[in-house]
Amino acid sequence: MNNNSDMDRESSGICNFPGCNRQIWELSNEKFCIFHSENNGENDKVARQIWEEAREQAKNGNPFYDGWHFPEDPDKKDFCSISFNKKAIFDKANFEWDVNFQNSVFIGQANFIDTIFGNRSVFNNCRFNDGVDFRGATFNGRTTFLKANFDGIINFTTSRFMKGAFFRKSVFERNPHFIATRFGGEAYFRRACFKEGADFRRAKFTDETDFSAIKSDGEVVFTLPSNDEEYAALPPFLERPEYGASAYRLAKQTAQDQGNYRKASNYHYAEQCAIEYAKRHSFKLKPYHKDFWLYDNPKQFISNWFEFLFNRLLFGYGEKPHRILVAWIVVIISFTFLYWVSGGVVLQDINLERSNGFFNCLYFSVVTFTTLGYGDFHPVGWSRIFAGIEALSGAILMALFVVALTRKYMR
Ligand SMILES: [Zn+2]
Repeated sequence: MNNNSDMDRESSGICNFPGCNRQIWELSNEKFCIFHSENNGENDKVARQIWEEAREQAKNGNPFYDGWHFPEDPDKKDFCSISFNKKAIFDKANFEWDVNFQNSVFIGQANFIDTIFGNRSVFNNCRFNDGVDFRGATFNGRTTFLKANFDGIINFTTSRFMKGAFFRKSVFERNPHFIATRFGGEAYFRRACFKEGADFRRAKFTDETDFSAIKSDGEVVFTLPSNDEEYAALPPFLERPEYGASAYRLAKQTAQDQGNYRKASNYHYAEQCAIEYAKRHSFKLKPYHKDFWLYDNPKQFISNWFEFLFNRLLFGYGEKPHRILVAWIVVIISFTFLYWVSGGVVLQDINLERSNGFFNCLYFSVVTFTTLGYGDFHPVGWSRIFAGIEALSGAILMALFVVALTRKYMR
């Protein structure tokens, strides 16, 4: 039956694009009408005719361009300063080369589902008054939405920007969805305004990002790493984890503004990880590289590793108090063994009777760590030096724990 209707179409000379009733263009390679033909850009006259018709349809309130193949406009007028008076449909349309929507106004909804933008696309100063749907759209060139204004349902879910997306100073009246959007190339949102927040869950960034100086009255959400391994790599920022910093900083601020302190704390940790990653990598701190061992700036070397080991792993940038408790236990147990194998501890009132029992050493270790110092046991030989070190680290680790706990729960 399908075959029959296909044959009918062919014999009656109707375009092969589903739902299109136009005549087949005689020069079409694939039995499409002039608007759906992939070779409609071969001469300027035809290309011009297509663009004239497209602009005419926008004016007459019939802006349906689904599946259209737009050649490069020889006059470069494109859709500049056009007002689309009704719902505009560009679903599955294909812009062969650059396209310019600058200063256009979409009074009705604008649908660009699965649209392919062949090269640069410009939406600067565009107004989307009643929602825009870019689900599954592919932007193959640099894409700019500078000072664009978005209202209604704003959906960029699963769209792909291959060579940079620039949303500088654009205004989002409602919460835009950038869920699982792929930003290949830069993602610039500097000085944008999210009036109801923004959703970047599962979005992927492969290059530089800029989420600074953004105004947002709602929460801006990014995917947080789910375990320590992921914190080391920051999955949304796969190839360049250091660029996660401005995004996580923005998310932290908006979470804090909403009183969501627990989330803010996680974002803070992710932000610090990104910063730490940037520092470590800018100095090529990779033990498996030759450069690592031929380091010419020892001060920086020490400060980077101190930051990584102490500030991040142990202190968790003040967000992980439980790690310090683990460190307590590690210190107490390791010093217990040190006392046990070195000089040992001696009971105070029975002179010189060595008391090297493991539990006595453990008891002495706890008393020393907490700087209680009952004085019933005292160390001899090397144990004296170890006891000094343990008392010092105990004092520091206990203070750290208090700081981290206060930071986390007393915001
Ligand atoms: Zn057609």
